[in-house]
Amino acid sequence: MGCIEHKKSPANNGDSHLISEGEKVTVPDFNAFDVMEPRNPEKTPVDRRNGKHVKANDIPPEGVYLPNNNILAPHMKSPEYVQLSNAAAITLGIMGGRMYRTECTRCLNLLLTYPEGCRANCAYCGLARHREAERDYADRNFIRVDWPAVPMADIVDIVAKDPESSPFHRMCISMITHPRSEDDTFTVLKQWTDKIDPDAIPVSILSNPTTMTRDDVQRTKDLGADIFTVALDAATPELFDRTRGKGVQSPHKWKKYWDIMLEAKDIFGPQKFGAHIIVGMGETEYEVLNLVQELVDLGGHSHMFCFFPEDGSLMDHLPATPRDQWRRVQLARYLIDYRDVRVDHMKFDEEGRVKSYGIADSELSDIIDAGIAFRTSGCPGKFQDDISACDRPYGDSPPSNIASYPFQPKKKDIRKIRKQLDIPVAVE
Ligand code: SF4
Repeated sequence: MGCIEHKKSPANNGDSHLISEGEKVTVPDFNAFDVMEPRNPEKTPVDRRNGKHVKANDIPPEGVYLPNNNILAPHMKSPEYVQLSNAAAITLGIMGGRMYRTECTRCLNLLLTYPEGCRANCAYCGLARHREAERDYADRNFIRVDWPAVPMADIVDIVAKDPESSPFHRMCISMITHPRSEDDTFTVLKQWTDKIDPDAIPVSILSNPTTMTRDDVQRTKDLGADIFTVALDAATPELFDRTRGKGVQSPHKWKKYWDIMLEAKDIFGPQKFGAHIIVGMGETEYEVLNLVQELVDLGGHSHMFCFFPEDGSLMDHLPATPRDQWRRVQLARYLIDYRDVRVDHMKFDEEGRVKSYGIADSELSDIIDAGIAFRTSGCPGKFQDDISACDRPYGDSPPSNIASYPFQPKKKDIRKIRKQLDIPVAVE
């Protein structure tokens, strides 16, 4: 395998200009609310609901399970089993393969797993409930890659041999929406911290607020978690409802997500909580950057993804976020999060697009050339505060048109980024 490349790319993978029969066609340089309408979920046949056939056949798992939709998935469930990203499996050494322009990932992303799968139905997500009609949970693609299932004890044993020299700078448990996810998160977290010093490899929780209480948040802290995040994903209440709530028969509520995030602020403290946000699902640049400012004012951080139409999701027919929209938001978010620039220092046009960044051109130019603003954002690793451990290689774009750089961008990358930002090239 040369690199982790999705089998099928959508018609528009982020380029603002599409070539059509020799003619250059200009498409809008942002994903507007009216365009980004998810399709409706279809009814799931009764025999495919809740992982019924996986449980009925009850095939015992044997070691690592590599996703394969041509066979019936074994009966695997957390806390004994977790899924981990392709990148983490390669880095851990339990799977072969190489990644484009990067050797490893610094974050060991774990996903709880059950035959019933995630019980939510988020429109942009490859793990969503409506997919039970077409593939077993363990075979579903998520953020553009497969997620092998591995016994948790094996993962702990490998990392516990020498945590100080591990390539991983952080471990993260993604909870999904399932009645067992709180208890199993506690078990997986304890299994880790019993054998691996959380100071050597800190742990983040990517929570499922819908079923959580304040006591649950406290418990993750007591068991050794370092950072608690909430996958808000949608940048406004309307978008949240359309993509994660009533709009797609999904149980999530914007208010509950905020309530749990505010509990985390209280329990974990400044710089130790935050929210995931996906850019380009129909919000304006002004709206998403206002949210980033709100999080910073609370003492937290935003972790940002570029929308990519995940194969099999309810938004797989929609355009990826145009690169100019994404670059503007990525740069502005970095300035708000790490350079004390405020959203009210910036200027926006009548469509809510960033027109100026609120700092001197020379300073902005230096920040662009430093390239960190365009790297993947997330919880910090061991290099520096503004470099994420969670580099999720090619989770939000194909390697051929990178949205979030999982490595330090080189001069040729900065030249491309400047073109996408429409800021004159000044690098040699
Ligand atoms: S709750 Fe998370 S894992 Fe479940 S469908 Fe929504 S985004 Fe996907």
